[in-house]
Amino acid sequence: MPVSSLRSTRMLPYGRQSISEEDIQAVADVLRSDWLTTGPKVPEFERRFAAFVGAAEAVAVCNGTAALHAAMYGCGIGPGDEVIVPAMTFAATANAVLYQGGTPVFCDVNPENLLIDLSDVEAKITPRTRAIAAVDYTGHSCDYDALRRIAEVHQLYLIDDACHAIGGTYKGRKVGSLADLNTFSFHPVKHLTTGEGGMITTDNPAFAARMRNFRNHGITTDHRQREQAGSWAYDMVDLGYNYRITDFQCALGISQMERLPRSVLHRQQVAKRYDEAFTGVEQLAPLKRAHDVSHAYHLYVIQLHLERITVDRAKVFRDLREEGIGVNVHYRPVHLHPYYRDRFGTGPGMCPVAEKAYERILSLPMFASMTDEDIDHVVRSVRNIMRRHRLEPR
Ligand SMILES: *Cc1c(COP(=O)(O)O)cnc(C)c1O
Repeated sequence: MPVSSLRSTRMLPYGRQSISEEDIQAVADVLRSDWLTTGPKVPEFERRFAAFVGAAEAVAVCNGTAALHAAMYGCGIGPGDEVIVPAMTFAATANAVLYQGGTPVFCDVNPENLLIDLSDVEAKITPRTRAIAAVDYTGHSCDYDALRRIAEVHQLYLIDDACHAIGGTYKGRKVGSLADLNTFSFHPVKHLTTGEGGMITTDNPAFAARMRNFRNHGITTDHRQREQAGSWAYDMVDLGYNYRITDFQCALGISQMERLPRSVLHRQQVAKRYDEAFTGVEQLAPLKRAHDVSHAYHLYVIQLHLERITVDRAKVFRDLREEGIGVNVHYRPVHLHPYYRDRFGTGPGMCPVAEKAYERILSLPMFASMTDEDIDHVVRSVRNIMRRHRLEPR
């Protein structure tokens, strides 16, 4: 569809999938094959994904939340265990700890990049802490050398919720190989989609074996393995879930992976155009980027300088939506959600940096098929709206 007609009928979204004819063909081929699920495409997707991120093992599951749950199970999180989670993330990062009966302990973020604050991580460690679940918020890697040091000193597992960051690097090392367990989502707004889908990567074969059982009811062999062995017998050795992904989804994932490097590059080019366009706009600031990180740009987040404008973020949000720009807010800090407040007594004041940032952030459109015209439209609208609401110096 030409972009002009797209714009007249709908918002420019903050994120969207891109599907090629090859993707459609790959899915159709599987639909005509013998295996719709638990077939050969699952291990093929896992092998290719592991190779792409430079990890020994990859385990595919039905969504990113299941990936987080499996990661918590994989490293043995259970009742009484605490896992440190940044407040600025999607609720699933913390919820996965609860699924295992553990306790998420919220820590604050850095004001410049909204990534996990290392000194607050250290402050939140107790004798019950078992793991740190860092989040590569927006697609910018956390400081894994520093996190690794903290994890080693306190004997903690390091989990990377890398749902934003596939295709990114940290000091030349690929996201997916930076923590003990690394989780990904293949939801349509993410870089690579399977409709719904997720993956965990690890260099630890014991973790991988545990997670493969976990995604299949806690049963030690899958349907195809039994077919091949000509056997009906199986052992259920632990309480697992049906977190399997289908073969046609994995075929889509394999096909999408071909375009992943190009799509990350395009996102970086969009970000560069935004960066240049917003330099000198005093009413806002993009998040800071480290020089030793290659940013995967799931999101492009700006922070409004509310003290330099006459309106609040909600008004800027509405103005941009009126211009057909589907801005969004990522995220309401998890500890401010009613569930956590009511059940765990969390609330305002616990993570002041994340709470203050939450009042100011906006996610601008960022996806692989954005055109120059789309970018110009966003830039022009943001600049006009900032000018309209700027606080005149008295
Ligand atoms: C998308 C996302 C998830 C959850 O993934 P689903 O596939 O939607 O279950 C978890 N954490 C973060 C940071 C995400 O962005």
